[in-house]
Amino acid sequence: MTKPIIVSGMQPTGNLHIGNYLGALKNWVDLQNSGQYQLYLFVADLHSLTLTMTPETRRENVRLLAAEYIAAGIDPAKTTVFVQSHVPEHSELAWIFNCVTPVSELERMTQFKDKAAREDKNINAGLLTYPILQAADILLYHGTLVPVGQDQVQHLELTRDIARWFNNKFGDYFPTIKPLLTKIPKVMSLLEPAKKMSKSKGAGHIIALADEPEIIINKLKKAVTASAGGGQAPGVENLLSLLQQFGATETHQKFIKAEQAGTIRYGDLKQELAAAIAHYFADFRQKRQDLLANPKKLEKILMAGAQQAGVVARATMSEVKKIVGIR
Ligand code: AMP
Repeated sequence: MTKPIIVSGMQPTGNLHIGNYLGALKNWVDLQNSGQYQLYLFVADLHSLTLTMTPETRRENVRLLAAEYIAAGIDPAKTTVFVQSHVPEHSELAWIFNCVTPVSELERMTQFKDKAAREDKNINAGLLTYPILQAADILLYHGTLVPVGQDQVQHLELTRDIARWFNNKFGDYFPTIKPLLTKIPKVMSLLEPAKKMSKSKGAGHIIALADEPEIIINKLKKAVTASAGGGQAPGVENLLSLLQQFGATETHQKFIKAEQAGTIRYGDLKQELAAAIAHYFADFRQKRQDLLANPKKLEKILMAGAQQAGVVARATMSEVKKIVGIR
């Protein structure tokens, strides 16, 4: 029996933080280890071309992200790990999808509106057509399940629509995809706990998976715990929820009780949390360092991944080309 196919990826924008880990990467590792799915995980370098980044940084970030996927537990023996641009069929299928997608549907996407507002000096056409490439990423492998957070649901609906528009025009070919909505904790910024943790705000707002123990404690020491208007402060809530994710159950319980009794000491909470995070990612840091120190090994893994993905991608494109009449 063939397993349901899951396709996902992240853009290479630098070191991953604990929000990326709890919101995406950990979930991928769990899905992989459940043994119930076939996963295709890519480094979305083509998507990153929509962002402003130097070529050197982009090249470096691609290697870095691949190393971080693997260091965090993605096993190339179980999961096809590759770089998006190494499989040129992603772009090829995206072009065909461009030609079945109404512009008005793209202009509706809230993420486009947000990004266009943020990158107002670089509103390139790629920012608009990005969800089309995303549809190609998924449908190229006949993916049916896509693990996402709520913010990506609109794009997935578009992927489903694109498959439908294609099927209506050319006959039934692409499957209907479903979002695999997991209960994903939203990790908040250390310095502005009302907002999502995001590296665009600056290094002090995030804890990177690669941060050394002394960096983690220094960042946590500066984390905001004060409440602006009474009630539980969002910063404290965030720290407690991180302790629940990364620490021992008893430690988490101890601080929850202290919080309720009003005897909690934030300095102690930060110390415990720093130790828990540093310990949780000790193995990750070592593996990441080993992979980055051994570029040949990493390259070999990514080449093998692209080869595996390429077999499926070429078969899909060969069928699609016949269906649309260019072969
Ligand atoms: P980004 O680079 O912001 O597109 O994030 C890559 C992945 O990490 C996406 O699946 C996001 O939903 C997830 N993610 C990013 N930041 C957070 C956060 N603060 N909390 C939870 N998930 C996050």
